[in-house]
Amino acid sequence: MIEFRSVTVTYPDGTVGLDDITLDIPAGQFVVVVGLSGAGKSTLIRSVNGLVPVTNGELVVDGSAVHGAKGRALRRLRARVGMIFQSFNLVKRSSVLTNVLVGRLHATGFLRSMLGWFRASDKQLAFEALDRVGILEKAYNRASALSGGQQQRVAIARVLAQQPSVILADEPVASLDPPTAHMVMRDLQRINRELGITTIVNLHFLDLAREFGDRIIGMRDGKVVFDGSGVQADDAV
Ligand code: ADP
Ligand code: ADP
Repeated sequence: MIEFRSVTVTYPDGTVGLDDITLDIPAGQFVVVVGLSGAGKSTLIRSVNGLVPVTNGELVVDGSAVHGAKGRALRRLRARVGMIFQSFNLVKRSSVLTNVLVGRLHATGFLRSMLGWFRASDKQLAFEALDRVGILEKAYNRASALSGGQQQRVAIARVLAQQPSVILADEPVASLDPPTAHMVMRDLQRINRELGITTIVNLHFLDLAREFGDRIIGMRDGKVVFDGSGVQADDAV
């Protein structure tokens, strides 16, 4: 469960990223956030794992306060909240397996993982994650040798290896061609259904939002201007 209570995010230069947002996202929901560039989608997502600090209001993830969280509390939160980015954020010259093991680093955050000293159970989780997104046979390839869609699957596997309760995906398909974008969205939806991980995905396009969102949140100027199912979303944003 993710609870926003009158959440406002103001950037240091005074720009308002989120303007008094109140929302409940139940555990296991697949939420798609839509809106024009600058609407606040990315700020909304990044606030959930504390990448962007909440200026006012309360934001609670699985019972833990995100507003005001620092240090160890913030690291604990991030261990449970996985992020996927438009640009995949892989270490391109490293192997697929190494990239996925970074998810264990996010989950444990210990020095041993910084030394590359992973446990057998970490590798097991990494292989399972690669299997779940259908690229187990690529484990020992360099990330740079994979197509865009495959690289985004590596990023999804990295998040899964983290065993998160929440997945945040910030424009995860924006740099992919339409058929590949569709496949990656299907992967995210299947994972949500199979594992019950609460998922929030930012999208530019309403057609994908309608197809995949259990719930669509439309944003404009840092505010929620629509919140409902895909059928109603046609004229809203
Ligand atoms: P979206 O993801 O919908 O494109 P963003 O959340 O990125 O929207 O941006 C919301 C508003 O916050 C925009 O006006 C944007 O210019 C502003 N913004 C985003 N990041 C920063 C930042 N680091 N510093 C100042 N303003 C920012
Ligand atoms: P930026 O957001 O500009 O990439 P930051 O220093 O704010 O840089 O974040 C550091 C990086 O740590 C992020 O870009 C992201 O790759 C990674 N990161 C932070 N939190 C998480 C998380 N919960 N799961 C996965 N990766 C994360």
